[in-house]
Amino acid sequence: MTEPNPGIPTDRYVERLAACRQAIAARGFAALLIGVGPDLRYLTGFVGEPMERLTLLVVPRDGPVRFVVPRLEATKAEATPLVSAGAAEVLAFDEADDAAARIAELLDPVRRTPGDAGRQPIGLSDRLWAMHVLGLERALPGCHFEPASAVLRDLRQVKDADEARLLRLAAAAADRTVDAIAAGRLVGRTEAEISREIRGRLIDEGHDLADFAIVGSGPNGASPHHDAGARAIGGGEPVVLDLGGTLAGYLSDTTRTIWVAGEAHTEPEPEFRRVYDLVREAQAAATAAVRPGIPAEKIDAEARGFIAAAGYGEYFTHRVGHGIGLEAHEDPYMVSGNATQLQPGMAFSVEPGIYLPGRWGVRLENVVMCTEAGSEVLNRSSLELRVVRG
Ligand code: ZN
Ligand code: ZN
Ligand code: ZN
Repeated sequence: MTEPNPGIPTDRYVERLAACRQAIAARGFAALLIGVGPDLRYLTGFVGEPMERLTLLVVPRDGPVRFVVPRLEATKAEATPLVSAGAAEVLAFDEADDAAARIAELLDPVRRTPGDAGRQPIGLSDRLWAMHVLGLERALPGCHFEPASAVLRDLRQVKDADEARLLRLAAAAADRTVDAIAAGRLVGRTEAEISREIRGRLIDEGHDLADFAIVGSGPNGASPHHDAGARAIGGGEPVVLDLGGTLAGYLSDTTRTIWVAGEAHTEPEPEFRRVYDLVREAQAAATAAVRPGIPAEKIDAEARGFIAAAGYGEYFTHRVGHGIGLEAHEDPYMVSGNATQLQPGMAFSVEPGIYLPGRWGVRLENVVMCTEAGSEVLNRSSLELRVVRG
């Protein structure tokens, strides 16, 4: 399957490849070897799952770009935007062939370059399976490998107008999902049931895939990545809903925490209200700090300082955000120690949380894009505390 509409225009893949080859030269790499995954989708439009057969886009510093694929996927590879635009050539191998040896032959010209250029590293896509990496190591003795992200990070983390459009569409679909769940029946249903409903709605609202649907009720909300389970939701407790899906390759990711009052109309306990307001203010402060030139770690520090000053610092146990695009978690990470300066087009989550073990948790998450003027918040559903009957 190639990119469905509304996807990325074909010309963009040719531009991405050109930018990638410039970056290969600028970073002093001999070549990139890109296996099935988000890097390959970014460069070619190829959609698929990694498997035991080797599929690799071979992008040398100079010379032709080859897409090496098992024969049964040759038709699919030919149909990718990059290949159909004439920017790469498909080389199919048969089941009994040694694919890694074929790759080594293709790399011969760049490896035989005399002097320092012949010793330049080869970049392997970060998601390439160990079995393939080990096979390439055997086929290319003496080669020095580096993560391809050293070359591709700078390209992938700045979204173009079409990527921004798809992230907006995905965010809006996630917003409609979370609003529908918050307005629906909750009390007496298990987390797993709600999670299944979320996955269905993510698709109904326009995603191609439902990627995750965290439902953390009561004390389960204190575990940020809780797996929705058999616990039934009761009246008088909060529920953390964290959900996302993929739309034309691009991810959504949003979290809302709601208070389920139940038939007895049990009001939120005072500390819950206090913590909720604190997380909301921290989320707003971190979002307000987003603008070009600011280091990513400052976005984290903004939220963390706020929560620590109120005495809840030790209960905010994760970074404040992660980049989002073709992957749910990608560069740039909003985390202490990341000095990457924000640029217009960078998209990432801002998701502070406070987790009180054995009691409950609160997390609020929006995807935010850095713009020339500051920022654009892609998620529009309300951040007011929703006290629902459930
Ligand atoms: Zn998470
Ligand atoms: Zn999330
Ligand atoms: Zn997230």
